[in-house]
Amino acid sequence: MYRTKTCGELRLTNAGESVTLAGWVQRVRKMGAMTFVDLRDRYGITQLVFNEETNAELCAAANKLGREFVIQVEGTVNERYSKNKNIPTGDIEIIASKLNILNESEIPPFTIEDNTDGGDDIRMKYRYLDLRRTAVRKNLELRHRMCIEVRNYLSNLGFLEVETPMLIGSTPEGARDFVVPSRMNPGQFYALPQSPQTLKQLLMVSGFDRYFQIVKCFRDEDLRADRQPEFTQIDCEMSFVTQEDIIQTFEGMAKHLFKTLRGVEFDQPFLRLPWAEAMRRFGSDKPDMRFGMEFVELDDILKTGSFPVFDNAAYIGGICAPGCAVYTRKQLDQLTDFVKRPQIGAKGLVYARVQDDGTVKSSVDKFYDQTILQQLKEKMQANPGDLILILSGDDAMKTRKQLCELRLEMGERLGLRDKNKFALLWVTEFPMFEWSDEEQRLMAMHHPFTHPMDEDIHLLDTDPAAVRADAYDMVCNGVEVGGGSIRIHDPQLQEKMFEILGFTPEKAQEQFGFLMNAFKYGAPPHGGLAYGLDRWVSIFAGLDSIRDCIAFPKNNSGRDVMLDAPSAIDQKQLDELCLNLNVKE
Ligand code: ASP
Repeated sequence: MYRTKTCGELRLTNAGESVTLAGWVQRVRKMGAMTFVDLRDRYGITQLVFNEETNAELCAAANKLGREFVIQVEGTVNERYSKNKNIPTGDIEIIASKLNILNESEIPPFTIEDNTDGGDDIRMKYRYLDLRRTAVRKNLELRHRMCIEVRNYLSNLGFLEVETPMLIGSTPEGARDFVVPSRMNPGQFYALPQSPQTLKQLLMVSGFDRYFQIVKCFRDEDLRADRQPEFTQIDCEMSFVTQEDIIQTFEGMAKHLFKTLRGVEFDQPFLRLPWAEAMRRFGSDKPDMRFGMEFVELDDILKTGSFPVFDNAAYIGGICAPGCAVYTRKQLDQLTDFVKRPQIGAKGLVYARVQDDGTVKSSVDKFYDQTILQQLKEKMQANPGDLILILSGDDAMKTRKQLCELRLEMGERLGLRDKNKFALLWVTEFPMFEWSDEEQRLMAMHHPFTHPMDEDIHLLDTDPAAVRADAYDMVCNGVEVGGGSIRIHDPQLQEKMFEILGFTPEKAQEQFGFLMNAFKYGAPPHGGLAYGLDRWVSIFAGLDSIRDCIAFPKNNSGRDVMLDAPSAIDQKQLDELCLNLNVKE
C-alpha cells in the first residue's frame, strides 16, 4: 500500500497518528533548520516538516526535492504551531520520519498552483500538468457530479440511456459535418454526428418512449468562446408528449441540478418568452434577464423630419443606463467605438444625458428641442443621472442585435451580470424558417424535423416565413443552455418540409429515406431536447469559457495543441483510403 491517508483528509483529531502519504511536491521552503514541503494530491495539500536537528540526513534529502517530484512520506501527525486557515488540513503537519522518491520531475513549464504564471497556450500544451491545479480539477469534479445527477434524475423518471453510433451518415443541424473516410468502402465517408437527432427519433419509433444519452456531438464550425468542435450534450427524447410535458420535465431537471449542485432554489416557474417578444424587448433569442434595460422603440418621438438619420431609419431603439449621465466624453467615445466595431457594425451612437435639474442634454441637440427631448426622457422612463443610448438603422433586426450588444456591454460595465445570480427562461414560438443569403433558400431555424405550430400549418404553402415552430430553447444568463422541439411524425408533413427546404424528392429520399420509411410503420408523436453539458458546467462553475470544464479541449483554431492534432497522415494511410490530397498552399 503506497499510502494510508490522502493529502486532504488529516485534521487535528488525527494528531499523534502515524501515517503514510503520497503525492506531488508543490513547494519546498527552507527556514533555518526546518524544511517545509507542501505535498499535493487530488484531495488537497498537506504540510510536511523535516528537521535538520533531529534527522539531518532526511532533511538533506528533502532539501533536494524539486517541484512536482512524486514522493512517499511516513511520519506523525502534529498540531501546527502557526495554523493555515485557508486549507482544510491547515491545523496539522506531518513530522516526516521516512522519505521515498517515487519519481523525479523536470522543472515544470509553469507553476502548478491556483495562481499560476502559465499563459493559456503553455497550459494547453501541458494540459496534464494544468489539470493538477485545483481550480481546473474542481471543474471536472463538478462535471462528474452533474452527470451523476442527470443520470439518476432521468433514470428515476423512466428514461433509458441508449448509446447511438458515432460513425453515421450526415444529420443536418445547420453546421458542417466532420467526415471519416471508410477504408472498406473506398470513396465513401461516414459523418460524425452533429447530434443523435434522427437516431433518437428512430428509438421513439421503436417504442423506447423515454431516451437519454450523455453524448459527444461534432460540428465543424468557426469557434467562439462557448463553442468546441466536439462537445457533450445531454440528449433526450420522449413519446406521446406535448411541448408542455417536455418543458415541465426538463425545467424540473434544471431546478434539481441547481438545487443539488449550487444550492439555488427557484420558487417560480421559469419565464416563457415568445421569440418575437424576446427580439423586440432584448434584440436576442437568448436574452440575459439578470438585468432590465429593455429596449424602447422611439420612432414615434424621434421621427420629426429634422434629423435625416432617424427619419430614414427602419428602427430607432434606446436603452436607459441608470446613473451613467456622468460618463465622460472619453467613455462615450469608447461606447461609440464599441458599437462601430465590425463585429457589431452600427454606424453611430446617439446619447442623451438626463441632468440633475431634469433637462436633457444630447448629442443631437441641434436637431431636437427640449420639448422633444423631454418626451424622450418620459418614454425611456429616465431619471436625473441616467444616460439614454440610442441606435438606429435601416434593418430593424440587425439594429436590434446591435442594441443587444450595447445592452450587454452596459450590463457588464454596471456589474449587473453577476455570475452568482441565475436568470432562466424558455424562449418559445421560434420562426420555423430563416432565409439564408449564402444558400439562397429557406433553412430550418432549428432542424428539418421540427413540427410547425398547429395553428400555423395552413401557412406552410402561402407564407412559410410566418410559420412558427413548436420549438423551445432554455436560456440561462444570456446563454442558450438547451433546446428542442416537438417533431414531425407524419411522413407526408416531413416530405413537405423537405420540399420547402429545397430538397428534391429524390434528394430527400436519398438522405432521409430511412426516417421517412420508419414513419410509415407507426411513429408515435414525440419530441425532445438537448442540454449542452459543457455550458451547464461552465455556468455552474462561473467560467468564461467552456474550455475550462473540458479535460482536453481544443483551442480557437480547433487544434489540440497537446496532441498536435489535426495533423497530416502518411502516404500509406492515404493510399489505403484511396485519398488524393489537393491542399492549396
Ligand atoms: N438535436 C438538437 C440539437 O442538437 C436538439 C433537439 O432538438 O433535441 O440542438
